[in-house]
Amino acid sequence: MSTSTSVLSAWQLLRNREITCQEALERLVDKRGIVNLQLLDKEVAYRFFREFPDQKDLPPVIPLLLWRNCYYLASPIDICADEMKKMSDRTFSDIRIIAIAEKSYSAWYHREKIDPKSICGTKLINPLTGELEEEDVCATTELYLSQAADQIGRIKTIISGALRNRASDIHLEPTGEGLRVRYRIDGILRNITTLPADIGRRVVVAIKVMCDMDIAESRCPQDGRISEQYAGDDDSNVGLDLRVSTLPCVGGEKVVIRLLTSKNPFSSLEKLGFSQRSLSVYKSLLRQPQGMIIFTGPTGSGKTSTLYTSLLSVATENVNVVTVEDPVEYVLPGITQTQVNERAGMTFAAGLRAILRQDPDIIMMGEIRDRETADTAVRAALTGHLVLTTLHTNDAIGAIPRLKDIGPDPALMSDALLGIVAQRLVRKICPHCGEPHTPTTEELQILGLDRPQTLPAISLAVSNSISAYGSALNNGNGNGNGNGVQTMTAVTPSIKHEIQGKWRIGRGCSNCFNSGYSGREAVVELLDVNDTVRELIYEGTMTQLQRYLKKNGFVSFRTAAIEKVTQGITTVEEVQRVLPRSALYNQNMG
Ligand SMILES: [Zn+2]
Repeated sequence: MSTSTSVLSAWQLLRNREITCQEALERLVDKRGIVNLQLLDKEVAYRFFREFPDQKDLPPVIPLLLWRNCYYLASPIDICADEMKKMSDRTFSDIRIIAIAEKSYSAWYHREKIDPKSICGTKLINPLTGELEEEDVCATTELYLSQAADQIGRIKTIISGALRNRASDIHLEPTGEGLRVRYRIDGILRNITTLPADIGRRVVVAIKVMCDMDIAESRCPQDGRISEQYAGDDDSNVGLDLRVSTLPCVGGEKVVIRLLTSKNPFSSLEKLGFSQRSLSVYKSLLRQPQGMIIFTGPTGSGKTSTLYTSLLSVATENVNVVTVEDPVEYVLPGITQTQVNERAGMTFAAGLRAILRQDPDIIMMGEIRDRETADTAVRAALTGHLVLTTLHTNDAIGAIPRLKDIGPDPALMSDALLGIVAQRLVRKICPHCGEPHTPTTEELQILGLDRPQTLPAISLAVSNSISAYGSALNNGNGNGNGNGVQTMTAVTPSIKHEIQGKWRIGRGCSNCFNSGYSGREAVVELLDVNDTVRELIYEGTMTQLQRYLKKNGFVSFRTAAIEKVTQGITTVEEVQRVLPRSALYNQNMG
């Protein structure tokens, strides 16, 4: 019949005289007001709704039964006599209303709305309030999967759920119980559901068909792509690129699907997560006519986002922006992007040389790996070009010895450098369940905010002074150089309030998988290369450089983290999870 399993609907049972009308209603709606969607009958709904071509005229109702010329309708609201009469007149039937829970009506409504044949990334809207629905992604996905008639429908349902919940990847892995489905959301994998083993196997085969893989081959890893379209939040069609890879493993094959939407995910520099002070410094760096800005951080630290957002912010019609990338991850409007192809001789160095013949203003080099590229990039940065590039180092300062190792002339290199940006992504406290939090002694200790009640008399923002205080004290403790300690004064109550005032923590709710976090932003360490720093890079030691930076308000990872925690954006736990260990623990170094 209409449902995927062959359960008879309550209406059919009633018509077969197997149960009474009262029993049918009891099976359809339980004591908590939850409707058993499996027992509804499509025919009843069809007959009722066909009398109302415009369903907007109707109050929220679910047709349950049509029995002895009476429609039994479930509704989460009180329906007035007028409305009852209207429905009765139109259907030439009596109307009886059975009260149900709001969430049960929502579940029915969303199930009716979905089309498993297409991918849809729009957020669920509560049909009663018109507001965004608090979605329990596991329950919704299972509800939708029950509506999918075939493997393609199941795959599209899984992809839709991933898009709705901002997942970056979908993992499908064979387990003893079946095919486990997980989404990576804000960098963390979340269990969604497990498909029965036989369905799971067919889903994996269908994915392999969709991306032109060899379905007979299940002993070797394969990779492929699917290009799709889906309905975005404003109902416009958005391109979707799915990068699929398989890996033979115990129990079958594991499939990972990376989701890349063509919707430009790069909003504005303001939304990346820079502190106000670093942002204004960073913007001034981007306005320079020439010089080099280096971005560092491991894979997944969000540096590509920062790089692309920055490029888009400078790519006006008056400038020629060209990139060499490996690979091109997103296609950016107004920018000429080229792709490295080592086999064809298009290396980073060759690409860069070719770009320089094309009258560029701004150049983005995906990565500096060798001496030749480094030399060319430094020379370009000294001859009227703004060069953006990346290096793999732990923090901003680490980029300096790393670049020196690669080997360009240190004098030219220090001249060319404008700034170094290092970053990590921290999860933000969930806006739905975040609440004020009083920091524990341990949390204060981790950030180095637990020291004696003194602070240096410097006029930077409060958070900066807190951190500078920590560094100054550390300098004093760590290497016998007591410079910083002399300038300290007592903490004023307002500063103490500032340290503790805005701390928050997420309790955990259905919006955030009970994690207490939703969404991510960058925590940024920004090294602004001024003349003193330039000199220290050229002829000083790293120790001298670190000492100078600590005394001069360097926005280190630690400073940036303290600001985010004290402003209630993220937690100490999260900062500890993502920052390099040295950023918080080696406070005495330098
Ligand atoms: Zn939450």
